[in-house]
Amino acid sequence: MEKSSNRRVFRPEKPSLLEEDPETLGARLFAAGQPAYRAGQVLEWIYRRGVTEPAAMTNLPAGLRSWLAEQFAGNPVDRVFWKRSGDETTKLLGRLEDGALIETVLIEAPQTGVGVERSRSTVCVSSQVGCAYGCKFCASGLAGWKRNLTRGEILGQFLRVGERQREADAPGTVRRDHVPFDNIVFMGMGEPLANFEAVTGAIESLHREWGFGFGARRITVSTSGLAPRIRDLADLGVPLRLAVSLHGATDEVRSRIMPVNRKYPIPELLDAVRSFRERHNRMVTLEFILIEEVNDSLAQAEALARIAGDLHAHVNCIPYNRVEGLPWTRPNRKRQERFAGVLRKAGISVTLRREKGHDIEAACGQLRLQEERRSA
Ligand code: SAH
Ligand code: SF4
Repeated sequence: MEKSSNRRVFRPEKPSLLEEDPETLGARLFAAGQPAYRAGQVLEWIYRRGVTEPAAMTNLPAGLRSWLAEQFAGNPVDRVFWKRSGDETTKLLGRLEDGALIETVLIEAPQTGVGVERSRSTVCVSSQVGCAYGCKFCASGLAGWKRNLTRGEILGQFLRVGERQREADAPGTVRRDHVPFDNIVFMGMGEPLANFEAVTGAIESLHREWGFGFGARRITVSTSGLAPRIRDLADLGVPLRLAVSLHGATDEVRSRIMPVNRKYPIPELLDAVRSFRERHNRMVTLEFILIEEVNDSLAQAEALARIAGDLHAHVNCIPYNRVEGLPWTRPNRKRQERFAGVLRKAGISVTLRREKGHDIEAACGQLRLQEERRSA
């Protein structure tokens, strides 16, 4: 069975308040002679108001505020900078206590046809520093795997995005919702299911009422296909969305670009995906990046149509985004359309990403890579 990669577990000097839930924090408070109900107040400051510094938790007694500040760190993700790319994408480069760099992406796409001026925002978070899975096309895998993020480091990314959203609001804006984004995707750097405990812990804080209270159906976990962990995720009983990075419709093509396929070949992966789908009775998405002359043939499209048809899955075709130093390119638009056309004709629900805008997938991993190369 696939184990979470817990070898290089990072232990920060002080634990962050973001590692806590009502039980753990309540128990710590109780042991320190404080009433356990204070835990709820602290968590409310964090998840309802975006405040992680105890000094600013003004309805707590001063003694408790200093105790909290002594015992706990605030947000473990420091902002290095925000960078806007295009109209819709803003990326955060964050630094962690040990100097590791991670990135988080905020995409704000205008909603069309709803009659109101509102954009839908999606936050794409990282789950590890680097990635051990070494997919041949991916920037995150290039520099190898450094370590897992902690639950607090995953949650810290959302709190930084919230801060940024509030700063960008015009003065006097009252947000209807305390969570300033609509969707969450675990599609940043790293393989979320290889950091199972921290990722599912973070999902707990995102989803529970004491936390962000964010709907599970608006949270997507993307995986390169760790079959046993997909089953574990199904067993959590939280109706998350699952996206599977397929990128090859036959074992031969997939193994060439995704080494993980040798461990969990397509039939085994699809069995696990099927059980997830049956458990939650919801459509799974198959991600398929189109790389010229690698996986964009008609034969691949036909094989993919069979897989998606059998699974009742949605297919998301994404034109490959170039990564500096890698030889791969995206096919031209005509070839992309031809590929998606085969699926459509077979009755598969399919989307083909636009050339610009939603560069969410390539966004992650690349900013960090640039920054590390720049400072090397
Ligand atoms: N490790 C997980 C999640 C992070 S990668 C996974 O592999 O699913 C998120 C998505 O970005 C994956 O579908 C991945 O295959 C895709 N991706 C990676 N590099 C890309 C690139 N250069 N262009 C387009 N998509 C890319
Ligand atoms: Fe890791 Fe996902 Fe990139 Fe593969 S595609 S190297 S699993 S981040």
